[in-house]
Amino acid sequence: MKDFSFIVPQNITFGAGSVKKLPEMVKELKVSNVLVISGPHLNKMGVTDKITALIEETGAKTCKFTDVEANPSVETVHKAADAYKENQAEAIVAIGGGSPMDVAKAVGVVVTYGGSITEYEGGGKVPGEIVPFIAIPTTAGTGSEVTAFSVITDHSRNYKLTVASQKLLPSHVILDPEFLTSCPAGTAAASGVDAMVHAIESYINKDCNPFIEAMAEKALELLGENIRKFVADRTNIEAASAMLLGSTFAGIAFNFGRLGDVHAMAHPVGGFFNVAHGTANAILLPVCLEYNALADDGKYKKIYDYISYTKADDSFVPEMLVEEVRKLTKSLGIPETLSEVGVTEDKISQMAEDAMKSGNIAVNPRITTKKDVEMLYKKAM
Ligand SMILES: [Zn+2]
Repeated sequence: MKDFSFIVPQNITFGAGSVKKLPEMVKELKVSNVLVISGPHLNKMGVTDKITALIEETGAKTCKFTDVEANPSVETVHKAADAYKENQAEAIVAIGGGSPMDVAKAVGVVVTYGGSITEYEGGGKVPGEIVPFIAIPTTAGTGSEVTAFSVITDHSRNYKLTVASQKLLPSHVILDPEFLTSCPAGTAAASGVDAMVHAIESYINKDCNPFIEAMAEKALELLGENIRKFVADRTNIEAASAMLLGSTFAGIAFNFGRLGDVHAMAHPVGGFFNVAHGTANAILLPVCLEYNALADDGKYKKIYDYISYTKADDSFVPEMLVEEVRKLTKSLGIPETLSEVGVTEDKISQMAEDAMKSGNIAVNPRITTKKDVEMLYKKAM
């Protein structure tokens, strides 16, 4: 067994209606002006007003930045950072999916240490603590509330850059499944599969250890049992609760163990073609699972048992998991090929080059070269 260590240095509160604990948390931060970061959809639905009202109960002032798009850009980070400075904010509350949370982390870096977020690309470049930050995920999900990563799109080079530092972790997280009940079916499906991919990739990759295994297995149990029910009816609060918790556990798993080929390959698809992260992952998952089957050490059978209606028997072969995943993503209404979401063959070589820069390739269970990545993209077309 490899040596390992872990720390989950966050205050995580789970429960339906738990957003009412937000004022208590803001008080703990001892700040008088808070920037709320979110997307236009949640703003239109009045969700951000609910959040500012809760914060204002503490006597603190609030301001909002609600222009965060899917695959958020470097420009968005800087606009949000300007809003933070102009309003003399002292803390951030991010509410939404992975995009607002990733932007909040990047804003935290830029307003604390200056310069452009591009200067902090990679691991260990963030000098120290960032501004106080509370995260409230509304999708299940990216797991961004418990991960040390901020993924930002640099349009000048069609590249999704990653800033990695444990300093990016929000100090407080509210997991309130009631926010998930208004999630559109397509988002519920794609982000739910993304959470599954986090659990699966951290579970089968070379960095896995008993702590990651424990988090990933519980995540897969929760997600596998509930993803169909949740996509069918997002107002099913039991299913929403399980999905949100499963997504957070999967996030904790990969925060300590990285991912694999699926994520390495999904980021360039988002960078070049603006395909939503969850959708790109869901399309690439069966193709990469098929490729990795050769390296399976028995975990494919366990994953199959978590996500399938029936349990595997002695006749199980890894390819059965690949088929099961294909059936699952199809039944959830996720596109099956990269061509369907607008990806074109001419960018495969460049995308493969970018995928190879990802630290996730190095821990993938089967050794992967640029040629392999090109072949996998072609298969996914
Ligand atoms: Zn992901």
